[in-house]
Amino acid sequence: MSILSVVPAGVVTGDNLRKLLNYAKEHKFAIPSFNCTSTSTVNAALEAARDAKSPVMIQFSNGGGAYFAGKGLDNKDQTASIIGSVAGAQYVRAVAKAYGIPVILHSDHCAKKLLPWFDGMLAADEAYFKLHGEPLFSSHMLDLSEEPKEENIEICVKYLKRMAPMKLLLEMEIGITGGEEDGVNNEDVDNAALYTQPEDIWDIYREFSKITDLFTIAAAFGNVHGVYKPGNVKLHPELLGKHQEFVKGKLGTADSKPVFFVFHGGSGSTAEEIKTAVEFGVIKMNIDTDTQFAYWMGLRDFYESKKAYLQSQIGNPEGADKPNKKYYDPRVFIREAEKGMIKRVHQAFKELGSANTL
Ligand SMILES: [Zn+2]
Repeated sequence: MSILSVVPAGVVTGDNLRKLLNYAKEHKFAIPSFNCTSTSTVNAALEAARDAKSPVMIQFSNGGGAYFAGKGLDNKDQTASIIGSVAGAQYVRAVAKAYGIPVILHSDHCAKKLLPWFDGMLAADEAYFKLHGEPLFSSHMLDLSEEPKEENIEICVKYLKRMAPMKLLLEMEIGITGGEEDGVNNEDVDNAALYTQPEDIWDIYREFSKITDLFTIAAAFGNVHGVYKPGNVKLHPELLGKHQEFVKGKLGTADSKPVFFVFHGGSGSTAEEIKTAVEFGVIKMNIDTDTQFAYWMGLRDFYESKKAYLQSQIGNPEGADKPNKKYYDPRVFIREAEKGMIKRVHQAFKELGSANTL
């Protein structure tokens, strides 16, 4: 049995999303989620997924959404972030099916101060639901890990109640994932906060389960957002196994992996660390920093190799009257950036075990 006999191609939500995540957990692979900021980066992720025969997640961050709508647009009251994230989602919906792969459409970290962004996207989901019987997005992320645990859970529960009727999945974060991402800086927090405790996972699981089973947890196990020099924070993906055991014990279930975990801040992790995390129930891993660099490298390498053709509209080493249009056309150089990203995206499918699962 393969994924496409379980869920259809195109954006998957609700019951199909649950089926897809269960399939991943059962078959011990995770689906990479790529932060996209443009149609170009969306296309790169989709193209690589199609060629790798893998499902894929596309996610828009608050800043990525605003960028999608245009840097010139005012982001007062989160307007640009809402418009851009919704436009990005609509774009993904327009093309996803043509790539022949299941796509999970997601929004990334939303801290407390950004809740108006979250509300705006939910309004778009509700409008879409009225028309099509499913939400626009597959899932959204609330990151209230900077707030006390009780408040974190309370706000998540409040939103889950609004999301559950649409079968919209919620991803939440507990504990602090170090590093900096999208303007949130966690570089000098206590080391103990970098490792989530099993009791925390159970508190979340217990409260969320009263409403829905469509939720995932980003636990802190020494992960760091962005690439940093290795410091005293050590990655302990095996802690996720302890969390699973704890929840299993509380539930008294035969299911050895009752929790869906997601892996944040995995840039620079070894293949072995990723494998361990997946083994213990990670079904999604965020990838942003590495694909950003790969996109840049694609462009940089192109520029370096074609430098002499990129200095003027006319005139290159082949002759003073030779045109350079086929080098400076954005379709050419942006495509080279995409090729760089595509290569890195393929690596993610391979490392997470999602390649050749369709
Ligand atoms: Zn995170």
